[in-house]
Amino acid sequence: MRMLNIILFGPPGAGKGTQSKKLIEKYHLTHLSTGDIFRHNIKENTPLGVLAKSYMDQGVLVPDSVTIDMLKQEVEKAKGDTSGFIFDGFPRTENQAQALDEFLGQQGMSIGVLLSLEVEEEELKSRLKERALTSGRPDDADPLVIEKRIGVYKNETLPVKNYYASQDKYTPIQGIGSIEEVFHRLCNALDAVTV
Ligand code: AMP
Repeated sequence: MRMLNIILFGPPGAGKGTQSKKLIEKYHLTHLSTGDIFRHNIKENTPLGVLAKSYMDQGVLVPDSVTIDMLKQEVEKAKGDTSGFIFDGFPRTENQAQALDEFLGQQGMSIGVLLSLEVEEEELKSRLKERALTSGRPDDADPLVIEKRIGVYKNETLPVKNYYASQDKYTPIQGIGSIEEVFHRLCNALDAVTV
């Protein structure tokens, strides 16, 4: 069976989680959100959760080695039973992107496309402020941590765009608009990949 593996890329607050949920329903894909997996571990109070929390609460990245190992395990668990993956919040460094490509390559898989939700900074900040009211996430609640996360995105995560642009896989998507509007843009881009 042909696999479709997508990276849903974008800064914090761009709508990756919301859109992933809609995409997995329509395309029957497996959603792998490293942030969600870390939060699950925090809730269960696992050693991984304790470690991850110390980074997440400050708005900085969990170290690559930890994140990459965890992601690989999740792919291994699900790969026999899916028509593809949506990677949400991963890769977040060029190092992670290289590790992902190498790992997928070893199993005869690859990334089909990176869909990049493009949203300007002021809009991100106001969305995250709004989200803090309901998300229960400590990293949404503090404006300084939000600033930090946006800074980390610019410095450490943006290079991932260029990395996939050089493979002709970078597809920008206007991330402003209603949830449905953005979803249609994503579907159009995806359908162009899958034909
Ligand atoms: P998210 O839910 O994607 O906004 O991620 C929340 C936090 O989890 C981030 O601010 C990081 O501290 C951590 N995190 C999530 N994904 C990664 C990743 N791929 N690499 C490193 N840290 C991550």
